[in-house]
Amino acid sequence: MGGAILDYSDPGFGIYVHWPFCAAKCPYCDFNSHVRHKPVDQPRFVAAFQREILQMRAITGARTVTSIFFGGGTPSLMAPQTVDEILSAIGRAWDVAIDAEITLEANPSSVEAERFRGYRAAGVNRVSLGVQALNDSDLKTLGRLHSVSEALTAIELARETFPRLSFDLIYARPGQSVQDWERELDAAIGHAADHLSLYQLTIEQGTPFYGLYKSGRLKIPDGDLSADLYEATQALTSARGLPAYEVSNHAVPGAESRHNLTYWRYGDYVGLGAGAHGRLSHAYGRIGTVNRRLPEQWLEQVETLGHGMESEERLDTEAQADELMLMGLRLREGFDVTRWRDLSGRSVDPDKESFLISHGLLERLGNSRLRCTPAGMMVLDAVVADLAA
Ligand code: SF4
Repeated sequence: MGGAILDYSDPGFGIYVHWPFCAAKCPYCDFNSHVRHKPVDQPRFVAAFQREILQMRAITGARTVTSIFFGGGTPSLMAPQTVDEILSAIGRAWDVAIDAEITLEANPSSVEAERFRGYRAAGVNRVSLGVQALNDSDLKTLGRLHSVSEALTAIELARETFPRLSFDLIYARPGQSVQDWERELDAAIGHAADHLSLYQLTIEQGTPFYGLYKSGRLKIPDGDLSADLYEATQALTSARGLPAYEVSNHAVPGAESRHNLTYWRYGDYVGLGAGAHGRLSHAYGRIGTVNRRLPEQWLEQVETLGHGMESEERLDTEAQADELMLMGLRLREGFDVTRWRDLSGRSVDPDKESFLISHGLLERLGNSRLRCTPAGMMVLDAVVADLAA
């Protein structure tokens, strides 16, 4: 992994596998995750993943897979054999690089030593743990099923079992002060290995938190406090050797998530499973794929048609340029303006660029890259909207 962050030219080729089930639904979550009250028929899902893999292989042709990511939902509810069979099917369809990063998201409440050993034996070499808070009362507010002590046990077990470990925390929680967060983050960094994902709590429409927020029963930090929390996060993680390489992701240099870098560097990736998205290049151009969102509908469609796609859209070069900029500006390394110009057929508007640079929101990195400054990252959506318009 060392030095991977500087290799802008090869965004890699990733495979995303979505496991759409959770033991309970967290009140802030708008991910494609579902609670089922009877056991999931995992062999049936494995057979569907195997079919979808064959279909995707026909679209991509021979490629070398540089990363595989089991996301969810709660992939740690998958039996190790399920993970093993899906990885084997991927290995039969494509070459998998010898040093491919293979990540599985796990919840501390579903962590068991034997299960972890099973994932490791199947080939998983990185775990991303959904810790979310190191404070029991906030874990309760967030509707999480684990306690701080269970999270710490899971971290220890993950460290012993996998070469690489990341965990997620949510901040800007109800009632959280900058000092509270700094104390918690400092403790978290003490437990972290090489990577942390730190997300601000956002209130998404359609979630229980949205209703509580709208009715005034849930108060979250306002804009100023959120900005202070964000700045404190950047300062502390940098000082402790895990600077941000993306808006919400922090790593010891060289330990960045290779899979996520493929998204943000606008590389190709296959999306497998319910609701998964993909970006694929083939002889006719680049396409975006979106799978059926409901697990049972995805399953039935794969069993009938061999794939779970709901739509497959040809991306024109203008759309690709927009996506490249949108993704690249999330990264500390920014995006390649030459690649953007080749796709869009025009140069980045010099007036807009100068305006954003003069306001301290954008900067040049060498001759060919543009990136957000830390201040620009805080208003990323506005910078993107301005530059892309
Ligand atoms: S565990 Fe994760 S995916 Fe599942 S409901 Fe909670 S936040 Fe959503």
